[in-house]
Amino acid sequence: MEHAAALAAPAVPVPFFTQAATLEAVWPQAEANLAEVIARGKYSHGHMVERFEHVLAERIGAARVVGVGSGTDALVLLLRAIGLEPGDEVVVPAFSFIASASSVVLAGGRPVFADIGPDDYAIDPDAAADAVTDLTRALMPVHLFSQLADLGALAEVADRYAVSLVEDSAEAIGMRWDGRHAGLHGSGGVLSFFPTKTLGALGDAGAVITDDDRIADTAAALRHHGRFGRTLAHFPGIANETVLPGFNSKMDDFQAAVLLAKLTRLDADIARRAELARAYTERLAGCPGVRKTPVLVDRGVPTDPVFYVYLVEVERRDALAAHLAAHGVGTETYYPVPLHLQPCFADLGYRAGQFPVAEAACAHTLALPLYPDLPDAAVDRVCELVRAFYTGNPT
Ligand SMILES: *Cc1c(COP(=O)(O)O)cnc(C)c1O
Repeated sequence: MEHAAALAAPAVPVPFFTQAATLEAVWPQAEANLAEVIARGKYSHGHMVERFEHVLAERIGAARVVGVGSGTDALVLLLRAIGLEPGDEVVVPAFSFIASASSVVLAGGRPVFADIGPDDYAIDPDAAADAVTDLTRALMPVHLFSQLADLGALAEVADRYAVSLVEDSAEAIGMRWDGRHAGLHGSGGVLSFFPTKTLGALGDAGAVITDDDRIADTAAALRHHGRFGRTLAHFPGIANETVLPGFNSKMDDFQAAVLLAKLTRLDADIARRAELARAYTERLAGCPGVRKTPVLVDRGVPTDPVFYVYLVEVERRDALAAHLAAHGVGTETYYPVPLHLQPCFADLGYRAGQFPVAEAACAHTLALPLYPDLPDAAVDRVCELVRAFYTGNPT
């Protein structure tokens, strides 16, 4: 009888993402910060944004953090700030979020794709080297899911061909290579504070991060219509003139207020994510149908991984996702279409089959729920559902 009752009880849904409990924990601090913004009356590009930029810069060990409207904007501004010119090529992995490549187009350049490695899902350094031409201006590795691209080898390729290294480190807050934070290994990088990210706001926000004052100053001007506002060391004598056609991509002080509060628990959030990832990997070990759980690649130097996304490679991916959805479990496909086959890049002339590792990743990977609010029991349930799907034993 008890068994029948348990079966009949509706299972608690497991959303792909929620941050309700995390937010509740930091709300008193967030509320105080928000009240301060309201009292000061400047809601964008104001003192809370400046405070957030300084606190975050200290935290990640960057000389400069420039808060902007989104991670995507940060990529466009960073590429513009390094001086990308029309026709310049940027080597980008074929497997990433669309913005890694569309930012290149929006900054006036041309993305050139390269295949990825099968374990880190990041650009393969040899493939990146092969993609370099006389027009190459930069390599743009993307650090996805839980670990950094091979920055040692990529910095060496960038040096060899005298091209810039810019990092799409939108997902990589907390990740370090030999002690140095993601995004600070070449000209600069970006962070996204989209709500689902490891440090998530309550809407869109992002940042350019760099140790180069000229790049930071240029990005800071570009976010604000190309106005420098104050006299800056690298651009003497210009205060209020517009010297570059810019954007309106200022960071919102209300988002900065929330982000400053959430920053106080970033380490705890990262530790909880690691704990949940370990639990998934243990419970999915040997599960039929699961081809691969995350593999952290040994780089020969200390690296700090951060589980932003828990990605598995599975058989019959879409059917598994549908099975989980039918049982109230949310999943995501990161990323369903490789960049070289996206319709918006059709004029670049790529074909299916050119980047087999990226194409296989698009076909077989699935992201399972992973966020600090997720209870241990939810991991058990998701793993039981996965096992039941492949063994044909309905739970
Ligand atoms: C989230 C993300 C972006 C874009 O950031 P937004 O803040 O959503 O604009 C860019 N690149 C990667 C790899 C991302 O994961």
